Amino acid sequence: MVHEMERQVEKEKPVSVKPTEQRAVALSIVIPVFNEEDNLRPLHEKLVEVCLRVGVSFEVIYVDDGSKDGSLTVLEALATNDAHVKVIQLRRNFGQTAAIAAGVDASQGEVVILMDADMQNDPEDIPRLLAKIQEGYDVVSGWRRNRKDRFLTRRLPSNMANKLISVVSGVRLHDYGCTLKAYRREVIQGIRFYGEMHRLIPAYAAWMGASITEIEVTHHPRLHGRSKYGLSRTIKVMLDLITVKFLSSFATKPIYVFGMAGLLMLAAGALVGAIVLAQKFFADVFVHRNPLLLLAVFLFILGVQLIMMGLLAEINIRTYYESQNKPIYSVRRVISQKEP
Ligand code: UDP
Ligand code: MG
Repeated sequence: MVHEMERQVEKEKPVSVKPTEQRAVALSIVIPVFNEEDNLRPLHEKLVEVCLRVGVSFEVIYVDDGSKDGSLTVLEALATNDAHVKVIQLRRNFGQTAAIAAGVDASQGEVVILMDADMQNDPEDIPRLLAKIQEGYDVVSGWRRNRKDRFLTRRLPSNMANKLISVVSGVRLHDYGCTLKAYRREVIQGIRFYGEMHRLIPAYAAWMGASITEIEVTHHPRLHGRSKYGLSRTIKVMLDLITVKFLSSFATKPIYVFGMAGLLMLAAGALVGAIVLAQKFFADVFVHRNPLLLLAVFLFILGVQLIMMGLLAEINIRTYYESQNKPIYSVRRVISQKEP
């Protein structure tokens, strides 16, 4: 999936991101904020400087995720002084994924860039992300090659998670955990986020047919404030992965998974049952003394249950798609001589 890696420093040429339909801004930068009061001003200064230099029309959306420190006051001041800023205040701490979702929903740009508020991501990488989008990619993923976090509790579990996600999803990226990524609006817009799922957006987007590439980005150690996460997040991400994988592969046809397993169980049950009968007739083993009988019955019940479960899931999934009018496909382009 990753087509090339590049390290070149972007030259100072203006990057234009052409909107396909008329949008208010070309670029939206969405930043979730939870207790980052000391980081916000320097981050914003840097961000604006870079965006002005690049020369795109842009907006910066800060989502205050129920901060308990002075973050909101700082954000209010930023919004008052800078028309590029939009602040969304959530009522309580909903978590990074929810904050990102709120920001994306409120964003207008043709391209959406997500980044952290803690100044560990570097705004200087934005022009390179945009250049890749302009090349035609739908998602450009940041890779913190020299990640400045603790090894044992952060980098090691994260490495393992990245390998696993890459294998399971078939979308090979070095750094799912890096928030700094750029997305074309079409691929990020329709995605519904749950749990810690924002990390899996590239995988999700790839399943919808998006093209993805990866570039190395700078990572700084945290200077102000504390990290909000520990080891437990890796486990959550793994569980999300199972959900997303299941939904993406079998969402329109759950009976294929459950039914297949069910039929397998039934077949195994029949086989074991046949052995029980054979032993009765040819080896004089009493059926009620044969432990294999229990196994046969168990497999049969399990098989029937699984098939039933598949049917229930089928009903569920129909409600899911039909109630939301969700299409089961995703269109990249329509080519025709007629104006839409
Ligand atoms: N964050 C948030 N809500 C939360 C936890 C974190 O909005 O409940 C934000 C946080 O302010 C930061 C980003 O998510 O901008 C990433 O958090 P952090 O730096 O703690 O994660 P790490 O970089 O250590 O993985
Ligand atoms: Mg961080």
